[in-house]
Amino acid sequence: MNCYETVARLHLYIGRELNAEEVVIVQQHLTACPDCECRFHFDMRVTRLIHERCTIEKAPEHLRERVLLLARAPMGEPVAFDPEVEMEIRADFEEYE
Ligand SMILES: [Zn+2]
Repeated sequence: MNCYETVARLHLYIGRELNAEEVVIVQQHLTACPDCECRFHFDMRVTRLIHERCTIEKAPEHLRERVLLLARAPMGEPVAFDPEVEMEIRADFEEYE
């Protein structure tokens, strides 16, 4: 399998949607190819990040309320945040950057 084919399967690999045979082929390529291995780690990180940011029901109650408030706010209208909560949300997001 070449790099292009491997990268095309990475999201399936990360999502555990490949069969056992394909997993082995992808793993073999990743072991042998630093470029794809690097790409794989990057994709893993992004996937995890998206997953974490999407599972806000696991966030503390007050934080979740603020995020939902922000999500429901009409476009272009500023949302008034408690400065303390705003700091908390920023800190939470900056952790990943
Ligand atoms: Zn490669």
